[in-house]
Amino acid sequence: MPKKVSLRMCVACRQMKEKKDLIRIIKDVTGSIVVDEKVKQSGRGAYLCKSQDCLQKCIKTKALNRALSCDIPQSVFENLKEKIIEE
Ligand SMILES: [Zn+2]
Repeated sequence: MPKKVSLRMCVACRQMKEKKDLIRIIKDVTGSIVVDEKVKQSGRGAYLCKSQDCLQKCIKTKALNRALSCDIPQSVFENLKEKIIEE
């Protein structure tokens, strides 16, 4: 039986990808935005490809702001940028 892979949609390019190819950004219970590497925290989440293109695109289009329906602090984008470069 093939292993079931759950797909999530990137907020920038709207492609469905495997979770391992995405970074999860969540709004936690206190309303703060965190980049969730271990995907263990609960809260409203959005996914973004591990790619600079998608990061730039989501900054430009405010896709992440819309997905989480709040303002995303610049520090979150800086954090994402660093994580994407590390990949
Ligand atoms: Zn993408």
